[in-house]
Amino acid sequence: METSKEMEMKNIPTQASQKFRNFPMVPRVVFGNGSFDQLGDILLPKRKNSDVPIIYLVDDVFEDSDLHARIPRIFSDQIIFISADEEPKTEQVDALVQMIRESYVEMPSGIVGIGGGTLLDLAKAVAILLNNKGNAADYQGWDLVRRESVYHVGIPTISGTGAEVSRTTVLLGTEKKLGINSDYTTFDQVILDPELTKGVPKEQWFYTGMDCFIHCIESLNGTYLNAFSQSYGEKALDLCKEVFLDTIAEEESRNKLMMASWHGGMSIAYSQVGVAHALSYGLGYQLGIKHGLGNCLVFQYLEEFYPEGVAIFNEMRKKHQIELPKDVCSKLSDHDFDAMISIAMGMEPLWENALGENWKSVITPAKLKSIYKKI
Ligand code: NAD
Ligand code: ZN
Repeated sequence: METSKEMEMKNIPTQASQKFRNFPMVPRVVFGNGSFDQLGDILLPKRKNSDVPIIYLVDDVFEDSDLHARIPRIFSDQIIFISADEEPKTEQVDALVQMIRESYVEMPSGIVGIGGGTLLDLAKAVAILLNNKGNAADYQGWDLVRRESVYHVGIPTISGTGAEVSRTTVLLGTEKKLGINSDYTTFDQVILDPELTKGVPKEQWFYTGMDCFIHCIESLNGTYLNAFSQSYGEKALDLCKEVFLDTIAEEESRNKLMMASWHGGMSIAYSQVGVAHALSYGLGYQLGIKHGLGNCLVFQYLEEFYPEGVAIFNEMRKKHQIELPKDVCSKLSDHDFDAMISIAMGMEPLWENALGENWKSVITPAKLKSIYKKI
């Protein structure tokens, strides 16, 4: 079965002629505290006419916030609040697309996602599906999208996943958790306003921030590493160390973590993630554990693979007094373990990146079970 992060960056060319992958990048980006207020001006030239809306998909944590009032909603624009309690689903994307299609005669002028990885991924997927026939599940995979997406803007409100810069949107379907990886997935515009991350609860700040830290460790210690990935990965790692180990002012910390997320995402674009992500996907699929927390739960037990990274992670955890949940896998049956192991083992590119071509000589179902049992 194909699962999610075979996805994130399967480093295999789609056509035999493509020896080197030709990645899209976000063509426009604004950075700065308060830059959110430029959104209205940015959208103005994209508006087709007053009857064609901009649709804002917004994390419902902002429903009663000052940010809600700052959204430049004019004419027939619509704000749709969405909960980020669960990771995005293919049916959720299909329902949103149907609702938008039924509400307006013309295709929206743009889709704006405001939130964390969950809302950013939803916005990317809705923008693709509005202009492509069929259902979201039809496009989970690599380069299956044929027509360009509706203009879409990403505005992160929490830092770490790199979803703002990646060419994938990770969706949970009925049969698989897999990204829509395509050149049309990447945002047309990103607004990086670190002030928007002010209200993030401490635990969530740590879990999502550690997603970035783990991207760096897995990329920098992987066999797929190259100078492109290394240059971004090293910068992101330095920024993570400043944010999570040094004592720096809050504003500086928010600014740096937002840029760490960006660089971490760029680093894995041209390499791959590794052991923690492979195992975390098993936890996500089987137990619904969210990406950032899942990565942390696994990573603490990976000293065999990433000794230096795990030592730094433990130091960071201690400094911020983060207690990770315990006994997460204690009540699982053998059948559950087998299902998780099969998902994790299926992430071949991740294992190959982490351990090289002969990874199967190190990674066995028994080995993975022993790690899961500690969690
Ligand atoms: P999230 O979007 O799931 O949000 C986590 C929690 O933080 C939610 O409760 C949300 O409401 C809250 N939150 C967000 N911003 C807030 C703010 N400013 N103030 C208060 N609360 C706030 O978090 P995430 O870790 O950024 O995203 C996880 C998702 O990202 C997963 O679905 C994962 O699959 C996906 N992901 C995607 C990519 C990609 O490249 N597309 C990469 C990694 C992860
Ligand atoms: Zn990740």
